[in-house]
Amino acid sequence: MRKPAKHKMHLEALKETDPKLYALLIREKERQMNGLELIPSENLVSQAVLEALASVPTNKYSEGYAKKRYYGGNEIIDEIELLAIERLKKLFNAEHANVQPLSGSPANMAAFFALMEPNDKFMALRLDMGGHLTHGHAVNFSGKIFRPVHYLLDPETEMLDYDAIEKLAKREKPKVIVSGYTAYPREIDFKRFKEIADDVGAYSMADIAHIAGLCCAGVHENPVPYFDVVTTTTHKTLRGPRGAAIMCRQEFAERIDRAVFPFLQGGPHENVIAAKAVAFKEASTKAFKRYAKQVVKNARALADELEALGNRLVSGGTDNHLMLVDVTVKGLTGKQAEKALEKAHIYCNKNTIPFDKRSPFDPSGIRLGTPAVTTRGMKEGEMKELAYLINCVLENPHSDSVIKKVRSSVLELCREFVFYE
Ligand SMILES: *Cc1c(COP(=O)(O)O)cnc(C)c1O
Repeated sequence: MRKPAKHKMHLEALKETDPKLYALLIREKERQMNGLELIPSENLVSQAVLEALASVPTNKYSEGYAKKRYYGGNEIIDEIELLAIERLKKLFNAEHANVQPLSGSPANMAAFFALMEPNDKFMALRLDMGGHLTHGHAVNFSGKIFRPVHYLLDPETEMLDYDAIEKLAKREKPKVIVSGYTAYPREIDFKRFKEIADDVGAYSMADIAHIAGLCCAGVHENPVPYFDVVTTTTHKTLRGPRGAAIMCRQEFAERIDRAVFPFLQGGPHENVIAAKAVAFKEASTKAFKRYAKQVVKNARALADELEALGNRLVSGGTDNHLMLVDVTVKGLTGKQAEKALEKAHIYCNKNTIPFDKRSPFDPSGIRLGTPAVTTRGMKEGEMKELAYLINCVLENPHSDSVIKKVRSSVLELCREFVFYE
């Protein structure tokens, strides 16, 4: 065993009182340990984060903000929340932070209502190009309450076309320009986005849900110091509990806070906020900087080897933690690829590729990312092996014997890199 497991779930009481749920939680932990998680929005949290999540602030009502609560008995809760805020501000060099958003989508909703009135116009990348549902999709609040104008990727390079975005912004004069994505494998030029927003008098907003861990570790440009508003989840590359945060310049502080509470949410989940504080401390360490660097190195190694094996990567590669593979080249659909890989205990998700000719329910691509396998301690050598295994499945999706062989190689890798005992 190369990497001894250091992390544990404590479920002693549950084992006694609720053996049925206990068994389910053990099975889910085993599933996570006996498979390779390549969904780029997922990660594995430390035992310290798990312990904070399972702690007593879950018992407390603390509507409002530190020193302005609607209930008594919040002195210590105030200290917990202020600790999380101070750590987050320091981590990203932010003027103001709100750590109460329950998840990324409500964080975006709060940010939109802080910056816009209903029917105001904003610009963002379309969902099928790598944007998020909350960036103006018709089925989402963002597309129903506000007026989205979507920019697209360049059809040749499959990358952001900043000149086209600038032209569109000049014509449309949006109130907000959103950058930051869910399935974009390249570096984002936040400085250019800020210039474009300033130029047309729009607010600059970045949604760094996916890349936050890379931004605070210095392996991706960090927009927080100069953008008006930045939203992020805390559970993706940042490797904290499921949740979110909003950072902004001081002049937007009051609007952001009021949009989170009382406009959108009620009582904050202070046990989750405690776990966020733990994750922010972890993310400020040298070890985390090494981790974030390795996430990117691993993504590049995986992408290079997949390409060498005859796969087509959207935009020709990756600069960050994720990549999109156009599996139609191998005669497959995204759904078929996802299902076949799942049988081999390799987890990824089907995903549209830019200008996809197929439907979003069975698109042309899959999305792969390295945050979780890097947390388990894997490096470039394992990525090369993983690319080989993925390629075996993509070339033989209907062969039970190939899937079985790949699965036993996956299990062997998993046993070498245990994270939760
Ligand atoms: C994941 C994600 C979100 C939403 O986060 P949830 O916690 O799932 O609500 C928002 N924006 C982007 C860009 C994301 O990748």
